[in-house]
Amino acid sequence: AADSFAPRFSNRFLDLGSRFYTELAASPLPDPHWVAVSSACTDLLGWPQDWWQRPGALAAFSGNASWPGMRPLASVYSGHQFGVWAGQLGDGRALWLGEVEAPAGPLELQLKGAGPTPYSRRGDGRAVLRSSIREFLCSEAMAALGIPTTRALCLVGSRELKIQRETVETAAVVTRVAPSFLRFGHFEHFAHHGQHAELRQLFDYFLQTYAPDCADAPNPVVAVLARVAGQTADLIAQWQAVGFMHGVMNTDNMSMLGLTIDYGPFGFMDGFNPGHICNHSDHQGRYAFARQPQIGLWNLHALAQALFPLMPTAETDADAAAEALQEALEVYRERFGQSLLGAMRAKLGLLDALEEDGLLIDDWLRLLAKHQSDYTLAHRRLSAFDPEQPPEAPVHAPLRDLFLDREAFDAWALRYAQRLKKAAADSSASRAARMNAVNPAVVLRNHLAQTAIKQAEAGDFSEVQRLAQVLSRPYDDPLNPADASLPPDWAQHLEVSCSS
Ligand code: AMP
Ligand code: MG
Ligand code: MG
Repeated sequence: AADSFAPRFSNRFLDLGSRFYTELAASPLPDPHWVAVSSACTDLLGWPQDWWQRPGALAAFSGNASWPGMRPLASVYSGHQFGVWAGQLGDGRALWLGEVEAPAGPLELQLKGAGPTPYSRRGDGRAVLRSSIREFLCSEAMAALGIPTTRALCLVGSRELKIQRETVETAAVVTRVAPSFLRFGHFEHFAHHGQHAELRQLFDYFLQTYAPDCADAPNPVVAVLARVAGQTADLIAQWQAVGFMHGVMNTDNMSMLGLTIDYGPFGFMDGFNPGHICNHSDHQGRYAFARQPQIGLWNLHALAQALFPLMPTAETDADAAAEALQEALEVYRERFGQSLLGAMRAKLGLLDALEEDGLLIDDWLRLLAKHQSDYTLAHRRLSAFDPEQPPEAPVHAPLRDLFLDREAFDAWALRYAQRLKKAAADSSASRAARMNAVNPAVVLRNHLAQTAIKQAEAGDFSEVQRLAQVLSRPYDDPLNPADASLPPDWAQHLEVSCSS
């Protein structure tokens, strides 16, 4: 048998003291079995690829055994849910196992679905296999797309542990990995309760551990807020560019490191509809696709408010302190605009930046919206565009066929051809290669996840593993064309709720 493998865990968060968390062991998971392991995340950790086959690995990541140095804890946070203060939330079903030393620095590992904690409220502390597969697949798919995200190392199931949602389902445990799982809500929690000493302690921990470069700034609080604002802007710009909808952008689901975190009723855009609401439980459409950018700013305002008591001038000159924080928030708008424009220019294969590009891009998106053309396919097919050929030429047919109103497409295509011709140094071949490296062929469409889930629920995990493999190379045309095709008819009205 292979040697057992058990890296040493430590946990700097423990030093903060018990007002920040509760230490507790995971609840046992009966008869656990592997569903999937991410080889990319294994590499990120610097672990041997067969770590999961070593003695004790399955027990550790189902919550049935502990590795050296592990002292699991659940942290407390609060937050705004759907725009309303929700009070205390916290890790209701996540356990921080601690940190391990990885090639690029320390990484935290968390079990999600490992049983109830003091912050579970009415929940059972568990997660269903269905939503765990979605989180596992999408975490790794986002990383492969190059979008900042928490990672998923592995997924363990249990045939014996049944949990009640709308129907009875089986339970699973996902292991998540990130440099930090701190959320805006961690800061909001202590600010809301007027616990300013704890707020300061948490801020200092974040500053020293994750933002040491901000420590020398004239005002580290302003510097940290500006940094989070910039990272969040970049993140949401990438979501918009790829057509990703988070679905539950509550402040407790906003990462202090600008990572995509908490995969629930997320979705990737099929037919382009800026008003699309991917979360069936979001009746007001607060988190609709086109609203994500402004929600990001709303959430940053909540963070700014939480950090306000830390401003050195708060007592003497509250107005100046508020103004300084407001200025830090201004970073968001500028960075978001630049980031999105840069990403869209790349998607359209535009080499240099011209003033007219903004309008060309807006009109492209309007054209997509008017026809509800498939967002991923349209961008992927755009790479074959040949500015020397008329819009109706055969080379453009796969793209043109995505638009019912051919005349509207032709009119835009002529402008696009003009624009491409202005980049004299560019060639169609190099442009196509660049575009195919930023416009994915495969994204985790709901119907792909659904097919993998159905088979997994019947005990066959091969489709989860196959799909994970395909999603690990999203910019390659997949072997199976169905992975990059329009959703089938049965999937037209798939609904994804918060139930998980
Ligand atoms: P979410 O909407 O998934 O971000 O979760 C909001 C809050 O509910 C967090 O505090 C979660 O830990 C908690 N929560 C969600 N589902 C469960 C569950 N099944 N058991 C315990 N807590 C949960
Ligand atoms: Mg959450
Ligand atoms: Mg969640």
